[in-house]
Amino acid sequence: MNLAKRVSTLTPSTTLAITAKAKELKAQGFDVIGLGAGEPDFNTPRHIIDEAVKAMNEGYTKYTPSGGLVSLKEAIIEKFKRDQQIEYKPSEIIVCTGAKHALYTLFQVILDEGDEVIIPTPYWVSYPEQVKLAGGKPVFVEGDEANHFKITPEQLKKAITAKTKAVIINSPSNPTGVLYSEEELLALGHVCLEHDILIVSDEIYEKLIYDGHKHVSIAQLSKELKESTIIINGVSKSHSMTGWRIGYAAGNETIIKAMTNLASHSTSNPTSIAQYAAIAAYNGPEEPVEEMRKAFEERLNIIYEKLIQIPGFYCVKPQGAFYLFPNVKEAAEMTGYKEVDDFVKALLEEEKVAIVPGSGFGAPNNVRLSYATSLELLEEAIKRIRRFVENHT
Ligand code: PLP
Repeated sequence: MNLAKRVSTLTPSTTLAITAKAKELKAQGFDVIGLGAGEPDFNTPRHIIDEAVKAMNEGYTKYTPSGGLVSLKEAIIEKFKRDQQIEYKPSEIIVCTGAKHALYTLFQVILDEGDEVIIPTPYWVSYPEQVKLAGGKPVFVEGDEANHFKITPEQLKKAITAKTKAVIINSPSNPTGVLYSEEELLALGHVCLEHDILIVSDEIYEKLIYDGHKHVSIAQLSKELKESTIIINGVSKSHSMTGWRIGYAAGNETIIKAMTNLASHSTSNPTSIAQYAAIAAYNGPEEPVEEMRKAFEERLNIIYEKLIQIPGFYCVKPQGAFYLFPNVKEAAEMTGYKEVDDFVKALLEEEKVAIVPGSGFGAPNNVRLSYATSLELLEEAIKRIRRFVENHT
C-alpha cells in the first residue's frame, strides 16, 4: 500500500529513537542512564490526582465542549491574568490534547500550501514536521551559539518573504533552555508587526525559570503584540502532567474558532477527567510547582559546573526548561568521531549513557541532556561521559 505523500517526508523523532535504543539495552540487563527524557520525573501533585478521581466518581466522564470546559477556560483566563497580566475571553482560548496538539491544530488552520513559517534553530523537533504536515514550508534561521542561540531582529527581517505567515518563539527553549529578555522580544515583535506576521509563542516551559530570571510573554508587551500572538501553553511541564495531555492556545478569536471546528472533527474534546485535573492545577496551590522548579534549579547548578569541565564540552548556561545543550564537536573529534551522532551512539554502547544528538534539533555540533532525573543518576552519568572522553583521547 502506498502511503500518502503527506507522511512520506516525516522524520521520526530523534528523542524517541534514542530512548527506544536505551530501553532495549536496559531490557538486556544493562545499567543504562537515560538523559533523553522530555518530561519531569516527579509525580503529578496529589491534589490534582484527587480532583480527577472525584470527577470520575461524580460521573464527569462524558464528552465536553470541543474547545474545552468553560470552567477550565476560566481557570486558564485567571492564570493569564495572574502570571502575565493578559486578559482573554473564553472565545480566545481552546483547550487541546496537549500543547503539541494545540500547535498541530494551529498550523492546520493557518497554513496554505507553500506558506512559510520561520523557525529559529535549534528548534523543538516537532515544529518543522507539523508545519510540513500542514502544507507549509519551514524556514530556518540560525540562533547563533555565540548569541546564546537567540535570533536577532535583523536575521528575522532577512528571512521574511511575501509568503511568511508566522514565526515561532519558544522561550525558554527546548533544547537550549535559553530565555529571551523583554527587550529582545520587543525588538523581534516590532519586526513581526511591521510585516504583519503571526507570532506563535510556545511558553510550555514558562514555570521553569532559574537564577532569578523572569519569564516574559511577547503577548504581554503591547496591545498590538497581544493581537498578533497565539500563545501555546499547558500543564505538562509545569505540573508534571505529561500523560494527562492538556495544553491550550490563546489568541485571535477567528483562529481559535477555526481550531475549535477542526478539533470537533478530530479529537471531539480533550479527555474530560484530565480537564478537571487541569482546573485543580491552575486553581490549586502553587507550592508544588515551585518545589519542582527548585529541584530542577539545584540539579542544573551542580550538573552544569561538572559538565563544562569535561574536555571538549562547551555549554551556554540555560536559564529555563530542564535541558543542557552543550557543543561537543571538539570532544567528538578528540575521541575519533567526525560526527556527533556517532559519538552519541558510541557513548550509549560503551558507557550506557543515553543523550540526544543535536542533529534532530537543527544543531549537529550539540547534544541534549535532560536533567529530569535524580541528582545521583545525573552525577553518575557525567562521570561516565567524562570517562568515555578521557579513555579515548
Ligand atoms: N513545546 C515544546 C517546546 C516541548 O518541548 C513540548 C514537549 O516536549 C511541547 C510543546 C508539547 O507539550 P505537551 O505535552 O503539552 O504536548
